[in-house]
Amino acid sequence: MPRRDAEYMEVDSDSDISIGDGTGRKGKGKEKAGDKRKKDKGKGKATEAAYTWEASYTRSWDTVQEDEAGSLQGAVEDWMARGRRRRLLAPAAPVRRTIIRHLVLLLDLSTSMLDRDMRPTRFDLTLQYAREFIVEWFDQNPLGQIGVVGMRAGIGERIGEMSGNPQDVLKAIADRHKLEPVGEPSLQNSIELARSSMNHLPTHSSREILIIFGSLTTCDPGNIHDTLDACVTNKIRISVVALAAEMKICRELCDKTAGQFGVAMNEGHFKDLLFELIPPPAQKALSRAAGAGATNPAADLMMMGFPTRLPDASPPSLCVCHSELRSEGFLCPRCLAKVCDVPTDCDVCDLMIVSSPHLARSYHHLFPVKPYTAVMSIADASVSIGCHGCARVFPTVALTGASEGLSPVGRYRCPECLGEFCSDCDVFVHDVTHVCPGCGK
Ligand SMILES: [Zn+2]
Ligand SMILES: [Zn+2]
Ligand SMILES: [Zn+2]
Ligand SMILES: [Zn+2]
Repeated sequence: MPRRDAEYMEVDSDSDISIGDGTGRKGKGKEKAGDKRKKDKGKGKATEAAYTWEASYTRSWDTVQEDEAGSLQGAVEDWMARGRRRRLLAPAAPVRRTIIRHLVLLLDLSTSMLDRDMRPTRFDLTLQYAREFIVEWFDQNPLGQIGVVGMRAGIGERIGEMSGNPQDVLKAIADRHKLEPVGEPSLQNSIELARSSMNHLPTHSSREILIIFGSLTTCDPGNIHDTLDACVTNKIRISVVALAAEMKICRELCDKTAGQFGVAMNEGHFKDLLFELIPPPAQKALSRAAGAGATNPAADLMMMGFPTRLPDASPPSLCVCHSELRSEGFLCPRCLAKVCDVPTDCDVCDLMIVSSPHLARSYHHLFPVKPYTAVMSIADASVSIGCHGCARVFPTVALTGASEGLSPVGRYRCPECLGEFCSDCDVFVHDVTHVCPGCGK
């Protein structure tokens, strides 16, 4: 099962800090990094050194604890328990979310990104995580679009146009040499650039800016608070992942626009902060930012078209998006113009063209599968001897030393259909299929 590999990779990528330490701290990923720092100061740093710059070089293979049998199962299960606890924190009731998202990824390309406190450098790590982020983001938000802006040498630089095609976005940041860090960053210039590229967007879509910021300075031509006010008026949500330390202006950008702010403590935490921004934001937060009097906008209908896919063997014709001659493509249902890729807006009649699988995949954010509850003892378990999903036989003896949120008997029960699942199926249902095989909900 491919999930399995992903789990091992996760453990591995986190392993520059010790795993045992990681469970406690990283489980609280939602908590603001600023708070965390204060807390650390209070209890003294003698016991742990979790900040990258505090930690001495750790051999990653030393930190993964084997159990008595020499297996790594424990480390993997720990990691899964973390994910499970995080899911339990998620709101169970349906919340209103924006599924048509527009995001500008703002990358700091100033010289401070060449620091080596994150290995190999902040810059290389950022590019790597940005790629993973983009792939995962499009997977969960197939109707969204991402644009990329870089900030270096005091200006904002458009690196990739707003696009709904993950390949286009990945291509924009594929060439490392074109993005080589230079000079000082300018928050104001690059936010203005990002803002101008989202001005024309319709109201039903979200406008978001995600800043990965490695510097402690910004050189701006004017008053950045004017830019901030303009972003609040335009309902642009700004989130910042800082790699160095908290800056007041960054915190303010996030607080006033209802975004999230976090300081990455180390490589693993950096990724956590970034990936927390993948699920679509709840709309509740937006109205709170707009003021107490504001309410959610009334639901309005929007026009979408399901395109006709041309067979591969059809005669070649020009597409309206690139003016290239090709045979495959999709026909706009309203004006019959030919476009290369969906989802997109028809270049001729402006109709939003989506395929129904895209719509269906966006749906699960609105009605998430309820988290399964861990069965805590054999006495509590049902009579079924195998997993309801994959029929693997459950262990008959309780494991000792299981951590919080983890079932010692390896059973997880769906609150709807009361079917019991193994931990692999639990993860698979909630992360991949988004539908319970027992009750179809
Ligand atoms: Zn085209
Ligand atoms: Zn059209
Ligand atoms: Zn199973
Ligand atoms: Zn169920």
